[in-house]
Amino acid sequence: MILPGSTIGVLGSGQLGRMFAIAARRMGYRVHTFSPDQDTPTGQIADEEIIAAYDDLDAVRAFARNVSVVTFEFENVSSAAVEAASEFAPVRPGGHVLHTSQHRLREKTFLANNGFPVAPFKRVTSLEELLIAIDEIGCPAVLKTAGFGYDGKGQSKITSPEQAQDALKTLGQQEAILEAFINFEREISVVAARSIDGAFVHYGAVANEHRNHILDITVAPAPIPPEVNQEAVAITRGVLETLGVVGVMCVEFFLTREGKLLINETAPRPHNSGHFTFDASLTSQFEQQLRAVCGLPLGSTELLRPAAMANLLGDLWQGGEPNWAAACAFSNVKVHLYGKLEPRKGRKMGHLTALAATAEEAERLVREARAALTA
Ligand code: AMP
Repeated sequence: MILPGSTIGVLGSGQLGRMFAIAARRMGYRVHTFSPDQDTPTGQIADEEIIAAYDDLDAVRAFARNVSVVTFEFENVSSAAVEAASEFAPVRPGGHVLHTSQHRLREKTFLANNGFPVAPFKRVTSLEELLIAIDEIGCPAVLKTAGFGYDGKGQSKITSPEQAQDALKTLGQQEAILEAFINFEREISVVAARSIDGAFVHYGAVANEHRNHILDITVAPAPIPPEVNQEAVAITRGVLETLGVVGVMCVEFFLTREGKLLINETAPRPHNSGHFTFDASLTSQFEQQLRAVCGLPLGSTELLRPAAMANLLGDLWQGGEPNWAAACAFSNVKVHLYGKLEPRKGRKMGHLTALAATAEEAERLVREARAALTA
């Protein structure tokens, strides 16, 4: 067991690491963060901010030598870096989890081979293969880069075979996958955690609304029938157990109009759709990650009150600094800002969480509070 007072190493330095560091420091741990950037969201909270490239393996080794365990908040770290770190400290979740989740093709192949439900997909490396895939899967379909994609980056929708060539060009001729376009009823996700001894906890299914491929609103709990919630949790548990995850993992699903669940994506770390747990759950997803990677017993995931989360993107700053006092005037709304200096368009700068008697009321409140920021 890695006990309070020990130092935790975090690969990556964004808002997920920041909220992890807040949870860790609250419990008396020290935190070192590693990324190529400086004055980062995580670095502002951590005891030490190590600035080096992820592929600087000597720097990774030096970082790992000074911590009791390495975890991450950014999964696009190379296997070589994970191996270098694991020479000196356990890496949790393990490199194989990262390797599977960070690459869509490996992820989808792993899921399909293990009997988990996914949308039909095909590997594509040339125009010829793309045309065959379009013929098999049908239109509309979505072409996605196989590796290193997030928040809809490297995706394009194909509604007819004539668009194949342009779509491939947009992706820049990389390895890709073509996936059936799912006309979903809604999107949901389950954030869960698994400990070293195999204990499993989950936060239940939450409903997610995306805008321009980026998460916009999460509502907890999701307004879905209890049997769909149970099925989503059971699938999530299966994924964590099959992969042998130690830590937190989020599984994102499409719920089709026929009531079928299909996994869209997995993320081997705390997830944007679990940010509400910071304010609304007995144990946040960040504390849960800490407990799991330290070998401590997991905490209760009980939802204290229904909640809704709204992301604050850089776009909100277009007319100047948002009116924070106006959001704080909503006494059941919590304001989270990540300490990022440049409010670029589409950049996640912070989020709001509203707590209320019902999920609908929480959603209405969080939307109103966000609108008040720029009113
Ligand atoms: P991703 O980066 O793959 O998670 O995609 C981001 C968002 O794009 C998803 O949350 C969906 O809203 C949308 N999307 C991605 N793939 C599909 C698909 N096959 N069918 C319909 N919508 C999709």
